[in-house]
Amino acid sequence: MSDPLADYRKKRDFAATPEPEPAAPVVRGNDAYVIHRHEARQLHYDLRLEHDGVLKSWAVPRGFSFDPSEKRLAVRTEDHPLEYEHFHGRIPKGQYGAGTMTIWDHGRYELVKIPTWDEAMQRGELKVQLFGRRLRGEWHLVRTQQAKNSWLLFKSKDTYAGPTRDSALGIELATAPACHVPLTTTAMRWQDEGNVASRDTDWLFEMEFEGLRTLAHKRGSAITMPSLASPPPTAIADGLAALRCHEALLDGVLVALEPNGRPTQAALAQALSGAPSKSLAFYAFDLLQWEDYDLRQLPLLDRKAALRTLVPEHARILFVDHVAGDGTALLQAIAEANLPAAIGKRATSHYTSGASPDWQRVRATPRRGSSRRSPTDALPTSEAPRWKPSNLSKVYWPAEGFTKGDLLTYYHAVADALLPHLRDRPLHLNRFPDGIDGKSFYQREVKEGSPDWVRTAPIPHDGAIVLHHVVDDLDTLLHVVNLGSIDLHPWLSRVGSLDAPDWAVLDLDPKTAPFGDVVRIARAAGKLLRGIGLRPLLKTSGKHGMHIFVPLMPGYTYDHSRMFTEAVARVLVRELPDIATVERLPDQRDGKVYLDFLQNRKSQTIVPPYAVRPVRSASVSAPLLWDELEDGDLSPQRFTIHTMQKRVAVHGDLFRKALDDRQDLLPAIAALQDVLRGR
Ligand code: MN
Repeated sequence: MSDPLADYRKKRDFAATPEPEPAAPVVRGNDAYVIHRHEARQLHYDLRLEHDGVLKSWAVPRGFSFDPSEKRLAVRTEDHPLEYEHFHGRIPKGQYGAGTMTIWDHGRYELVKIPTWDEAMQRGELKVQLFGRRLRGEWHLVRTQQAKNSWLLFKSKDTYAGPTRDSALGIELATAPACHVPLTTTAMRWQDEGNVASRDTDWLFEMEFEGLRTLAHKRGSAITMPSLASPPPTAIADGLAALRCHEALLDGVLVALEPNGRPTQAALAQALSGAPSKSLAFYAFDLLQWEDYDLRQLPLLDRKAALRTLVPEHARILFVDHVAGDGTALLQAIAEANLPAAIGKRATSHYTSGASPDWQRVRATPRRGSSRRSPTDALPTSEAPRWKPSNLSKVYWPAEGFTKGDLLTYYHAVADALLPHLRDRPLHLNRFPDGIDGKSFYQREVKEGSPDWVRTAPIPHDGAIVLHHVVDDLDTLLHVVNLGSIDLHPWLSRVGSLDAPDWAVLDLDPKTAPFGDVVRIARAAGKLLRGIGLRPLLKTSGKHGMHIFVPLMPGYTYDHSRMFTEAVARVLVRELPDIATVERLPDQRDGKVYLDFLQNRKSQTIVPPYAVRPVRSASVSAPLLWDELEDGDLSPQRFTIHTMQKRVAVHGDLFRKALDDRQDLLPAIAALQDVLRGR
């Protein structure tokens, strides 16, 4: 009998690759699968199914889709040893499969419909049921006649199938604990007279529904609602059975409408008594459990994103959407409809039992007269702006004709996404009172005569105490922009913890180097950082550079973040010596991209995501998905004050994890030392 791993061994030099050298194959339970995200020359995913003591492997260049009509090429590759199930790391340059291997999904699988591997291989058709964090349900692999080892992979039509997405929930479940039995818990309650403002970038706002609050549990087609004495009405149960999962625990409200369209308790009582009701519906606003994961410790925004992907198009089951950051318009609509209130919820809050200050009822106050703006207003503003706009028609970008008013309009539109990245940070201004071609001056200190409602922070600087601006809200943001600030320069640390940076930042600064080199280095940096266990974030600088952020757990100093980033930069220079340098003197850089780690210093600043740059075309610092480095146009002209709004509407704030996903550097430093030693 030949060695199934002969091919695997032949391709690798185990003195040079960190990949596992196989021990003698052991046949185990036969049911594990793993999917590696493999950033080799071409990004692809490797699907590996345990069988007969090895991992049967396919490379899937375009990844997975839950839409059954999207058939993806899967190329059969050599069997891998079982030790590979838990392998992740960086395969050095020059070795087979050089690049970064991360575990993208992991779980168990079952063969379905075709009962044995032998029969499946004979037929060239394999059906598996996957039980992972990202992939669930039945998937179908079919051998094609096109080329040797060529297969097609696609989703079978089942309860998980639905619109295009590459994972069942679209959120990261790594921190969600497993729960193997249905959760039982009491519902979270809002405080009735809280003190949350109707506009707060850390909060989101939902409509309050008049009805019966209840959790709803689904397991297959069995639906229970603990707040009801009897089983839920068939129409509701059928709707919940159609959720795109096997098991889930939802929170929501049962609502029934009067003929005039108003929800009332009387209409609900009638609908629940068994009388036919066309208007009975379940409004779902939270997701506590999905399959065998307890989601209660995940941020509310992630739970809602997951819930949104589960809810099918169904007249009886409705997803309660929200507005983020500014509930003013929602409250006004509620007041105009003579409804009582909205519910404000802290966007990062966990789900807890009982009353919580993280959920607050916000009463809508009926207004007399109209508070709508007159159509002649040049700018959208808060109802009573405290800042006074000036010179709105002054041209700031002469070649394009963009004005200061355009700039203010842009910042107003992206404020929800931008403000969390500015909050609590000392800010330096760079003022261009006559636009990008005029004189400019850099300003740390708040000038005399600054309005007293603008938050300031006293910061020691050169032996003196210097008052800095701190931008926490929309009015202050528009005030500093109105002063002629085109981009914004916040610190990497916050008032109250000025010595503890929130991010380690690597700035790829090309000066005259080609943009393609920046992209290549960013790709290598992403691979390296993921290879040592981190989850970095990427954005364009808004000019021709890129910024890479690693959010840090509290407790690290600027010395830590700078030394770490310097080590990363030096590994990258060693890897790409022809295009990357850490040379500080610009005329000694030989046209290479400068890897600047020196910004990791107290009182240094970095432009935040969504900041406009004082350059041609009014380009903007744009958060990117790492996969966007693989293809597509990333030139600064693509992300401008005229295109960014739509991108934010589609993707939300792609940089939010810079605030939420704080990471531990210590294990990464240990892993980086291995890389430096030449592994
Ligand atoms: Mn591969």
